[in-house]
Amino acid sequence: MRSSTETRVIETIADMRVWRESVRQPGEKDKPQVGLVPTMGALHDGHMTLVRKAVRECRHVAVSIFVNPMQFGPNEDFDRYPRTFENDVKLVREAGAEVVFHPAVTQLYPDGHGVATKVVAPGDLTERLCGQHRPGHFTGVTTVVLKLFSIVQPDVAYFGEKDFQQLTIIKRMSKDLDLPLDVVGVPTVREIDGLALSSRNVNLTSTERKRASELYKTLCFVREESLSGRRTLEEVLHVAGDRLNKMPEFSLQYLEACDPATLVPLKTAQTPMVILVAAKLGSVRLIDNLLVT
Ligand code: AMP
Repeated sequence: MRSSTETRVIETIADMRVWRESVRQPGEKDKPQVGLVPTMGALHDGHMTLVRKAVRECRHVAVSIFVNPMQFGPNEDFDRYPRTFENDVKLVREAGAEVVFHPAVTQLYPDGHGVATKVVAPGDLTERLCGQHRPGHFTGVTTVVLKLFSIVQPDVAYFGEKDFQQLTIIKRMSKDLDLPLDVVGVPTVREIDGLALSSRNVNLTSTERKRASELYKTLCFVREESLSGRRTLEEVLHVAGDRLNKMPEFSLQYLEACDPATLVPLKTAQTPMVILVAAKLGSVRLIDNLLVT
């Protein structure tokens, strides 16, 4: 672990640019110079797995903490999104990352996010799955991520497979815009009962929390049943979705099996395949997925 005094909180773009310039010298060729872990804070062990990987792999690591209003719809949970900044800084410090970039909304969107230039990824990736239920969400994500890339200029950026569609879209944006960095995906970290760690889990009631592991169980059921060949993929998805929806706390948004490279829905089970689910559990929207290779 690096010394705790090394972690700095930086709030402005200008100061980030000064920091980036200070670490500009090419380091040893065996390690990337700068790694970035973009987050919205309320950090948990899923985030910290990304940060620890970045610290192992890069000479300098910045963790951004920014709840990005552009990616929230008008009726979504921007205001009630959990914010635990002091504890976040402590965790980042313990993990040995050098910088926490924590800009105010006015730093990134001085004229308001509504009128800011936006980055729009292809509709075949952004308009389905979560995009269908959260119009404009991925445009908010790609815009803020490109801004963070432009400010931090990382050699490597780390994202969780937990947000599989987001990861796919960011990889595609980076390729299409020839961004000079590697986008690295990190496997999902789960609770003992299979629930994927998420900042939103704290908003579940205790009854909802007990039920929440059904999401992961559903994904495993679809994997096993569809690969066994006992039923068609369509039948399995129908049965599994129906079962989830019948539980009183759940309201299913989608359950699909897709090609992991293109996110095109599959007609028959195959490998590789990614099974993706989104559901509301009470007022909390949860997503999860299972990559079958
Ligand atoms: P967020 O703060 O929710 O925007 O997440 C920041 C990053 O952490 C994203 O790349 C997420 O995919 C990743 N992440 C969130 N939860 C997990 C998890 N349970 N396991 C691995 N990565 C995660």
